[in-house]
Amino acid sequence: MPQRVQVRLRGIVQGVGFRPFVYNLAQRLNLAGYVLNDSSGLVAEVEGPHAAVEAFLKALENEHPPLAWIQDRTVTSLPLTGDLGFFIRPSLAETGRFALVSPDIATCAECLADCTGPDNRRYGYAFTNCTNCGPRYTIIRDIPYDRPHTTMADFAMCQMCRAEYHDPANRRFHAQPNACPACGPALSAEIAEAQRRLADGEILAIKGLGGFHLACDARNAAAVARLRARKRRSDKPFAVMVRNLEAAHELCAVDHEAARALSGPRRPIVILPRREGARLPELIAPRNPALGVMLPYTPLHHLLFRGAAFAALVMTSGNLSEEPIVVDNQDAHERLGEVADWFLVHNRDIYMRADDSVVRMFEGEERVMRRSRGYAPQTLDVGRGLPELLACGGELKNVFCLTKGTHAILSQHIGDLENYETLVFFEETLANLKKLFRVTPRAVAYDLHPGYLSTRYALGLPGLEKFGVQHHHAHIASCMAENGLTGEVIGVAMDGTGYGEDGAIWGGEFLLASYAGFTRRAHLRYVPLAGGDAAVREPWRSALGYPGASERLTGVPEQRIRAGQAAIELEAIVDPSCEESYPFDIAGEELDFRPMMQRILTETAPPPVVAARFHNTLAHAIHEMCLRLRRESGLNRVCLSGGTFQNMRLLGLTARALRASRFELFLHRNVPPNDGGIALGQAVIAAQRMK
Ligand code: ZN
Ligand code: ZN
Ligand code: FE
Repeated sequence: MPQRVQVRLRGIVQGVGFRPFVYNLAQRLNLAGYVLNDSSGLVAEVEGPHAAVEAFLKALENEHPPLAWIQDRTVTSLPLTGDLGFFIRPSLAETGRFALVSPDIATCAECLADCTGPDNRRYGYAFTNCTNCGPRYTIIRDIPYDRPHTTMADFAMCQMCRAEYHDPANRRFHAQPNACPACGPALSAEIAEAQRRLADGEILAIKGLGGFHLACDARNAAAVARLRARKRRSDKPFAVMVRNLEAAHELCAVDHEAARALSGPRRPIVILPRREGARLPELIAPRNPALGVMLPYTPLHHLLFRGAAFAALVMTSGNLSEEPIVVDNQDAHERLGEVADWFLVHNRDIYMRADDSVVRMFEGEERVMRRSRGYAPQTLDVGRGLPELLACGGELKNVFCLTKGTHAILSQHIGDLENYETLVFFEETLANLKKLFRVTPRAVAYDLHPGYLSTRYALGLPGLEKFGVQHHHAHIASCMAENGLTGEVIGVAMDGTGYGEDGAIWGGEFLLASYAGFTRRAHLRYVPLAGGDAAVREPWRSALGYPGASERLTGVPEQRIRAGQAAIELEAIVDPSCEESYPFDIAGEELDFRPMMQRILTETAPPPVVAARFHNTLAHAIHEMCLRLRRESGLNRVCLSGGTFQNMRLLGLTARALRASRFELFLHRNVPPNDGGIALGQAVIAAQRMK
């Protein structure tokens, strides 16, 4: 019995090779019909014998292109039309509907083979890509995702590229950024010259996928020192790009899961334990036993390492200390001219900036700490329809969130919203995501902190309903939303600081929380914070609530304790065999660590033991407090959130203790635990209040 069905797919189904896949599948099964992209996804109709149609539907599910993600599928029966042949039809644009835009994707193995194969016409070509890989979000100006809507619009394809583009059997069929040396973007100089200069110790500004990098030979201590001095980047660690996985193994301890995160299509920076004897200059990541490592993710990167004298390059964002990453050639020369000795640029414009993403490994899974290139603008499915709204996020590590249907659309990492340039980046990205996803916010959510630029921005928006959301409530709601929870949970939000409902700065909070509201059941003891919000940058100081105390913990001098350095150093030196902890008090609603501080002041044990006891004490205290809240409330689900839980040692100890007491534990995975995650929480809370 012949039959005809229409299939509609939503999800990431454009720009990932889905139409050629469907075309080839239909050919194989001898089905008639068509496939096309519309602004909400992909539509196909097939007609043929029942068994073939069934096989088609099954293959859609099981054999689809690796980068596609089918969020949902509807199949409708249609009357037979007697169609002959199978066709790919032109895209349909419908206003008000939208398709999910793919993140940028690292160079695939086949494209790598193309640009490194001496007989290939793309040999040595730095902009090689196909439907399985290449730039997406950073070059897309509008949807549907077609070449005229990208920054490739100015490059007319040559005859050979056009033939590939129109050949459904070709890997480059409808690859919108398709290009070759004859017709595509070009570098400003030879790669060999860049290699020679890097090997000579020069600092290069290199235009990448989502912005400029500043690069130098990671093994060249003098070059690294000059880069650090010129970039005036105190002691924030530099990320390192290595030639391949073997080179990563030489520098860091890379287990199976970390190797998978490093070499996957998203190619984030993975924070890994540095190997002893890794022979890297101290200034790459001063006093930091971890190292942020990534693998090449564009053909340009691969070609830079090919045959080069170096196996590792410092690749740090091309910006001045707190400003957004530079994307424009002219701008790069103006802003980075004093830092870089030489520029390697190209003539393909970057439409959207995206920094490198950062992940850490925990319990065998990658945990996103900075969600940007390779991840944004992939949406999160919150499992229920939300009104269209904007959540402005926080101040540091700002990310905002838009909602549309069941989608939470998190922006890429915007950065610390403390200067005009970053605010402009925020506004440009907001305008772009509103356009791509066809969002018209009816309401805006914001942090209660009156001094945040994001708050002032929200309050200045005319005509929208406004929802102020408490910082730690947003952290917990974010963790709930990511894990698809409803109802009430015990929420533990530990971070630098957040503005409390009483106007005081809160920091270590135990909440009973739902999307609708929260009660604050316990917190770290209030202490005056020297410098107020400045303590945000010293998480341990404020986590402890004892300004200036941390330098006696470990012999780390006061002047070194900045930019989260204390947390990193303490986490790193922990002696894992030490199970002891210090005393603490629970007095009413207050968790008081003064007894621990008393002991630490007179400690004679070596720093790794002190650091271990310190971590054990925090985990122990959190566990104690959760037990107490469970007794009082009957709740058994715990959400952990806040930037303090970027400390994987503390997270691990806390998780172990809570699980041993049979709590149901929920952690962040795809959304940062730090303030980069609070926009999601703000959004779901505001949506709840709008009901
Ligand atoms: Zn490819
Ligand atoms: Zn070409
Ligand atoms: Fe926070």
